[in-house]
Amino acid sequence: MRVYISADMEGTAGVTGVLQTRPAEKQYDAARRLMVAEVNAAIEGAFAGGAAYVLVNDSHDGMRNLLLDELDPRAELVSGAPKPLSMVEGIEPGFDVMFCAGYHGMAGGAGTLAHTYNGLVHTSRLCGRPVGELGLNAAYAGSMGVPVGLVTGDDVLRAETAEILPWARFAQVKWALSRQAARNLPHEKAKDEIRRAAEAAVRGAAQMQVYQPAGRPEVEVTFLDAGQAGLAALCPGSERVSPITVRFAHDDFREVFRAFRAMITLAGA
Ligand SMILES: [Zn+2]
Repeated sequence: MRVYISADMEGTAGVTGVLQTRPAEKQYDAARRLMVAEVNAAIEGAFAGGAAYVLVNDSHDGMRNLLLDELDPRAELVSGAPKPLSMVEGIEPGFDVMFCAGYHGMAGGAGTLAHTYNGLVHTSRLCGRPVGELGLNAAYAGSMGVPVGLVTGDDVLRAETAEILPWARFAQVKWALSRQAARNLPHEKAKDEIRRAAEAAVRGAAQMQVYQPAGRPEVEVTFLDAGQAGLAALCPGSERVSPITVRFAHDDFREVFRAFRAMITLAGA
């Protein structure tokens, strides 16, 4: 049993402020400790459930948040940026299940620290349905034949998960009160929830379904302003459908994901 973990930071219990998530800030070191502890709980649960191999992909900010000597020594770590596939770098056919740890709600939603990849995305849609990082990354994993079996984060993300990945286990570690506030589970309890859900997710991996949105693969991104959309529309094959919205469709979802990455990167140029 091979387990892939995409690890973000904003969905970690105790992490509620933007400054906590930025490496240059004073509050960051404490937040990073909370993050690695929750990732280790997921790894522990995975091995308890029967995993033989765990690969963790550091998926937050500059993607050098998890220190190798603090990570469970049984897991391998993908770290650093830029990575071509960003939050799903390293996933490939042959993994049995994916965990989305420390994830957060989509841009435009009510989740704590909600956003989608970068701060320029107002809304993103996959085959017409609004999705955030969870939906986009789950669909990429789906194109590799890998199901998402566990998601951890706040109550808003729980609702997103229930909508698109109803089979997945969810470890809820906090309740969103505002964009930068949440009620958090105690640290030990949060780790415990994650450990138990991770173990159950691996034991139940065979029952998890691969996420494949219906219809021709297509992503549509609405940016905050027309300047960003204009740059995003430089992506070959894309179509500008409104002053602030750019669409890209392709028969192969992996190309759609690559185009999404290219469009949001260009938008920030
Ligand atoms: Zn994120």
